Amino acid sequence: MRTKFRGLTTREVLLFEGPNGWAEWSPFTEYEDEEASIWLKAAIEWAFGDIPKTDVKNIKVNATLPAVKDVQKALEPFGKFEVVKIKVAEAGQTLQDDLDRIHQVREHHPDARIRLDANGNWDIETALKIAKTIYQENVPLEYLEQPVRTIAEMAELKLKLQEFNIKIAADESVRKVSDPLAVAQAKAADILVLKVAPLGGINNALAIAKEAGLPVVVSSALETSVGISMGAHLAALLGSEYASGLGTAALLEIDVTDTPLIPVDGKIPVTRIVPNIDALAKLQAADSTTWWMKRFESSLKCLT
Ligand SMILES: [Mg+2]
Repeated sequence: MRTKFRGLTTREVLLFEGPNGWAEWSPFTEYEDEEASIWLKAAIEWAFGDIPKTDVKNIKVNATLPAVKDVQKALEPFGKFEVVKIKVAEAGQTLQDDLDRIHQVREHHPDARIRLDANGNWDIETALKIAKTIYQENVPLEYLEQPVRTIAEMAELKLKLQEFNIKIAADESVRKVSDPLAVAQAKAADILVLKVAPLGGINNALAIAKEAGLPVVVSSALETSVGISMGAHLAALLGSEYASGLGTAALLEIDVTDTPLIPVDGKIPVTRIVPNIDALAKLQAADSTTWWMKRFESSLKCLT
């Protein structure tokens, strides 16, 4: 990783090839087999399964700003962008740090629309406080992403935010296959952030989005470009009005391919990614290979 993200500085993934092309299986290392197996289902579908086709060539993506001091340097790899997601409410940072980061982004990118991602770390009171400030400062806010932790808190906050005309998107509240409907039924969000791997693949994610009936933002789980290509395909099929959170190849120091899905003018192509064999040899996580193969076998058992 270029900068620390989700507490990570390196990302481990397992890649394999099927008749459709290359797929990535990259559940975070702390996940148990059962959860990891859902991610595996998605990867197997991408490499071997029946997936609806699309003629869409490109999708819009947002830039992502981690909770760092040097805003310009962190945004540089994203090039030009229309939408930027700013990470807020990180441990060790104050509300003022977050506001400073928002101000810096507005100064250098006055036309960009802003998303704030709190990863569920605010309470309702804090979220309302920042919402009020943002409203007063006329920040061009697209939405607040997972401002608070629980579905009940999200529902309460959503009601209270109506007077500021601020939308909220559910991310961490949507992890399991049953979650999107629970969020929609509780009226806990205006928008759903969907990640294809934790939802068990493109076909599942399509069904879930349809059933929930809310606008969707397809997002990455810090994958390499191989994993991101699966999300881009889902985003193309969904045709959401919102830019996807799939520009995250720009957060990687090195990728597995010569044609990484780095955003150009706020877009990435919808295409299959072929890893570069030399890059794979160079990036091989030799110390973890045995662990990953064992994990692969035990997660595969959960699927059968
Ligand atoms: Mg998020």
